[in-house]
Amino acid sequence: MAAKIFYNDDADLSIIQGRSVAIIGYGSQGQAHAQNLRDSGVDVRIGLAEGSKSRAKAEAEGFTVMTVAEATADADVIMILTPDQVQAQVYTQDIEPNLEEGDALFFAHGFNIRFGYIQAPQGVDVAMVAPKGPGHTVRREYETGRGVPALVAVEVNASGTAQELALSYAKGLGATRAGVIETTFTEETETDLFGEQAVLCGGVSQLIQYGFETLTEAGYQPEIAYFEVCHELKLIVDLINEGGITKQRWSCSDTAEYGDYVSGPRVVTPETKEHMNAVLNDIQNGTFAQRFMDDQANGAQEFLELRAKGEAHPIEATGRELRKLFSWNKVQDDYTDGSTQR
Ligand code: NAD
Ligand code: MG
Repeated sequence: MAAKIFYNDDADLSIIQGRSVAIIGYGSQGQAHAQNLRDSGVDVRIGLAEGSKSRAKAEAEGFTVMTVAEATADADVIMILTPDQVQAQVYTQDIEPNLEEGDALFFAHGFNIRFGYIQAPQGVDVAMVAPKGPGHTVRREYETGRGVPALVAVEVNASGTAQELALSYAKGLGATRAGVIETTFTEETETDLFGEQAVLCGGVSQLIQYGFETLTEAGYQPEIAYFEVCHELKLIVDLINEGGITKQRWSCSDTAEYGDYVSGPRVVTPETKEHMNAVLNDIQNGTFAQRFMDDQANGAQEFLELRAKGEAHPIEATGRELRKLFSWNKVQDDYTDGSTQR
């Protein structure tokens, strides 16, 4: 494999133990980073906006909570874990004025650095430690003695030791137990956006909706359509996760496997790949980032409209009723955990 992968023996935990860390934001990633680092013997404080809903939670979990400005001033490694669209504002108002030479600015996603919304002052390390999993998994795996793999990248190596610091932080998170892959802010940002847009979120959602529409418009019952184009997706994805597309094809019937070969390329065509390239282009040239940030600045009007439209798709109502049949499928009613990501 070409990628460089670091494990426990490649990282020195004492480096991050010798620094003071500010975790800015206490959402999905923030909680996991703060708790894992604390359990790894790292000095952690949390930076939150004055009226933040997360404040009580972080305090109840035993953390010292400060304003973002205070936490930045108090610490020398500042990990920004607020939603990507507010990072530039938080940075300009509260972080930048409190950065000192020798500090390190850390991210879990490269968006704001890659697209130039945040520019660090001279003398400050800029690095990324991006776990490849949601926060609750990062925490759960750490507690069981394992870890979630992560990516590390260094954008600015002012100290000359930014990568050692990032690897040490990754070890504190438990990520070096699983493996930490070296990348760049550009590669992480562009591939992350592409993956979620073309395949994982955008591609899969559209595929499911079209499949559901095709069956229901042809007169089949929505409940049956839901099972066939949505519910069973998890079983397929689990198999792919375990053993690649080959294991999924091995596990399903020969009828399904043959249909996969002859019909898959009729549905997702070479034209789709051309569209994927267009999506990638818009990511690379900043068009997507600009559209997202402009809409956010405009009260997220387009975003909220699209969200409402998605929630109104008939498959959502069908799915809500059908999922009640699965007694073991006890998903928390409020899965949002108070954060903006839903
Ligand atoms: P989140 O929405 O779960 O939490 C963000 C937290 O930021 C909130 O809980 C709140 O405490 C705080 N916050 C919000 N507005 C603020 C403000 N104006 N000032 C100060 N604090 C504020 O976010 P998340 O999913 O943990 O994402 C954080 C970062 O981690 C992002 O860069 C994201 O791309 C990255 N990331 C997320 C995941 C994931 O699975 N969620 C995985 C890898 C990387
Ligand atoms: Mg400081």
